Amino acid sequence: MGNEHTVNKATNVTWHDGNISRSERFKALNATGATLWFTGLSASGKSTIACALEQVLVNRGVHCYRLDGDNIRMGLNKNLGFSAEDRAENIRRIGEVAKLFADSGCIALTSFISPYRADRDLCRTLHEQDQAGGIPFLEVFVDCPIEVCEERDPKGLYKKARAGQLKGFTGIDDPYEAPTKPELVLKPATMSVQDCVDACLELLAARGAIRS
Ligand code: ADP
Repeated sequence: MGNEHTVNKATNVTWHDGNISRSERFKALNATGATLWFTGLSASGKSTIACALEQVLVNRGVHCYRLDGDNIRMGLNKNLGFSAEDRAENIRRIGEVAKLFADSGCIALTSFISPYRADRDLCRTLHEQDQAGGIPFLEVFVDCPIEVCEERDPKGLYKKARAGQLKGFTGIDDPYEAPTKPELVLKPATMSVQDCVDACLELLAARGAIRS
């Protein structure tokens, strides 16, 4: 049984290979695609770190692109809400889009709470079992205690949730399932934004996505 979003309605479709392989594309573009998937509570620092990292990478001439929770919900995913089903579809679409960016030779930086393990695991699988071979999916757990997130609360969302004006808010009345095997854990309560960016650069270099 699937829900409205998981039913496969596309029939009679066949994968069409291009004339060049991914590795030929990466070589010609002098680029290596990968997805860096930031996950963590609201206000944990995902967007702040992704923005700072994007700035460093672009200044180095590395092709990267940020897919950010609220921005994507203003466009591609504007027809999705915050029910479990819609959250799952939100993340699935982001996973597919990030994979396309990564396949094009770009480093995709995604910052979404993505609270459910199964949804993130699906995105990992989409990358690892891609038709044309695996694409690196690097899960970055932005591990910030809820008390710190709540104190920072840049968008005033925790305040609203505590006042009962926001239902199903992650960490308050909806669960956050922490990653069990993330490629990287950042601790923004004790690490500066620069420390977090440096750790991401180290990971990307270790995986061959950028030069160290
Ligand atoms: P998220 O994208 O996870 O919802 P944001 O990046 O929008 O979180 O908000 C995090 C808030 O915490 C921002 O106001 C940011 O300036 C602040 N902050 C303070 N220290 C850090 C840090 N070390 N890393 C990330 N954010 C930090």
